[in-house]
Amino acid sequence: MLKWFRERRRRRVRARAFPGEWDAVLETLPLCRRLPDADRTELRGHIQVLLDEKRFEGCAGMAITDEIRLTIAAHAACLLLHRKTAYFPQLESILVYPHAYEAPSERHIGDYVVEEGTEVREGESWYRGSMVLSWDDVQRGVSDLSDGENVVLHEFAHQLDDESGEADGTPLLEGRRQWRNWVRVFQAEYEALQEADARGRRTLLDPYGAESPSEFFAVATECFFERPRKLGQRHPELYDQLRRYFRQDPAAW
Ligand SMILES: [Zn+2]
Repeated sequence: MLKWFRERRRRRVRARAFPGEWDAVLETLPLCRRLPDADRTELRGHIQVLLDEKRFEGCAGMAITDEIRLTIAAHAACLLLHRKTAYFPQLESILVYPHAYEAPSERHIGDYVVEEGTEVREGESWYRGSMVLSWDDVQRGVSDLSDGENVVLHEFAHQLDDESGEADGTPLLEGRRQWRNWVRVFQAEYEALQEADARGRRTLLDPYGAESPSEFFAVATECFFERPRKLGQRHPELYDQLRRYFRQDPAAW
């Protein structure tokens, strides 16, 4: 019953008129400009739902504006097109800092020694409830489509990964067959990136993806939307798996 009410509300929210000023913000975002027209209509509906359901909070003196909310929601919504979606069900709030922020860190040295310190972060996705983003880095990521880096796509990809119950680089897939193919391709590509990184070779995928399967999925998602043609040429199987999962073909845009 709850689900029925939620679906009904979402249908209404998606159908709301999309303000002209919001469209003006979308026009400034290279990824949104590149989307086919039909996708942009769907995107607007998803943005409305995200703005309706997620809380945006400014941190360290940051005031949340429509530009901030729309920029973040629009890129998150790009990951939802053409699929039945639950709208990142584990995510309640998005905390936005003006700049990269310092967070306490622990570094393991050997088996028994932990060095405590701080590290600078651009964003992070916590398993339950909230995501943290630095507005500086969001702007840098969304304005340049050729660098393959986009912290919003990255953090929301982690949310999709978490939906399957485990942050293991495998989001919710359609069936056993898709799952088998996904695991085969991702495993091989992940190991290849680890090896290239260990040898210091330049890679199309951000070497940060060699950290873990879940980081690999996040950086592959960034590359899929930002540098689709290159990804399709150099990693055709990986591109194909992402194309099937996202039900989008950005290389053809
Ligand atoms: Zn990450």
